[in-house]
Amino acid sequence: MTASGGDATKGLVVVHYAELGTKGKNRSFFVGVLRRNLRRALVGLPIANVQSRHARIFVELAAPLDDDLRSELSARLGAVMGIATFSFAERIPGRPLDRLEQEACRLVERALAGGAAIRTFAVDTRRGDKSFPIPSPEINRRIGAAIGARTGLGVDIRNADLTVGVEVLPDSILLYGEREEGQRGLPVGASARVVSLLSSGIDSPVASYRILARGCRVIYVHFHSMPYTKRASVDLTLDLVRQLAPYQPKSELYLVPLAEIQRKIAVEAQSSIRVVLYRRWMIRLAEKVAAKVGARALVTGDSIGQVASQTVENLSVTQGAATLPILRPLVATGKEEIIRMARRIGTYDISTQPYEDCCAFLMPQNPETHVRPEDVARAEDALGPMDDLVWDALGRAERHVIPCVPERKGP
Ligand code: ATP
Ligand code: MG
Repeated sequence: MTASGGDATKGLVVVHYAELGTKGKNRSFFVGVLRRNLRRALVGLPIANVQSRHARIFVELAAPLDDDLRSELSARLGAVMGIATFSFAERIPGRPLDRLEQEACRLVERALAGGAAIRTFAVDTRRGDKSFPIPSPEINRRIGAAIGARTGLGVDIRNADLTVGVEVLPDSILLYGEREEGQRGLPVGASARVVSLLSSGIDSPVASYRILARGCRVIYVHFHSMPYTKRASVDLTLDLVRQLAPYQPKSELYLVPLAEIQRKIAVEAQSSIRVVLYRRWMIRLAEKVAAKVGARALVTGDSIGQVASQTVENLSVTQGAATLPILRPLVATGKEEIIRMARRIGTYDISTQPYEDCCAFLMPQNPETHVRPEDVARAEDALGPMDDLVWDALGRAERHVIPCVPERKGP
């Protein structure tokens, strides 16, 4: 059944999208991407169809909405980038106005009983079916009068605490009230692909999230130092990608062994510039992954001044190893704010588990905060050709694919 056909016993979710409305000619492209992502995010649930209507998307359910389905839908829709808000709608078959008034009053009363701070309301009617004899302002007025009389609440068209949405379809009327918050931003796939350098620290998962919210499909690369370090930091990185997985249709993580390259640098290069040298090789390896997956930029969690390798000077020496742009969404964000975001997206507790980042012999005691490009050039010349080590590392990289919805185990 379609929304225009209407099966009143089944649920329907009205999805309002975020910035897409302002995208002019590209709007249908953005909406198409969002619809595709919605279908992927809702896989395995009883969904009859996902269709766009004016400035909204209707998700029609193939089953009545019970509490379990509602909370599953809330969780999944709540993670889809590009959604501003969404509401569970009631469907009133046959379009009787008196019943619509009653149901609208009941909806507001339920919201009040649920403890929502509501002092003002508005009614926003859209006639999807223009042949409906009563114009929208008149419907707004009649429902508004009924709600006002029943609840004593005042109307505030511009700044209502609760907006009652009414949508007139050919054979039924949709009614919806409270809106659940989405992630906003742009749907993933609307912008280019990027490769994100994901450590198991606090910053890079947040940086990845910020870039996902700009509509980029993010492919993750993590460099590990096994066998000098244990598998634990790799497992933490996998947990981080699982935590970030609901935000895009499919996540990929490349685990690249860096130990041999680090060992050569640790043995042959002066210790104060080592970290910057490691970073430059991470960038070069990440660019090879980017070429393979068709990514247009790299992403890191750097923030100016946070540690020695993140001074403006050292960041620019690291940038020097790249041919692709390096996006640093957290470059001017302070640690407190980053931690707040990490908590909100659920990565903080994973990132703060104890792990061995790198073994002691690879990490210098006193890293230089102002590494000079000429010292780096000299050190890299002295290292000689690194191609074999680079290709060996890439050849031994592990690729993991993580779906946006966890696969169900067993029957
Ligand atoms: P994070 O909290 O993201 O680890 P950090 O403040 O610890 O960041 P650094 O360790 O200097 O900073 O790393 C800076 C950035 O370099 C990280 O945000 C990440 O993008 C990248 N990076 C560092 N180590 C790794 C790694 N082992 N694998 C992949 N990327 C890494
Ligand atoms: Mg780190």
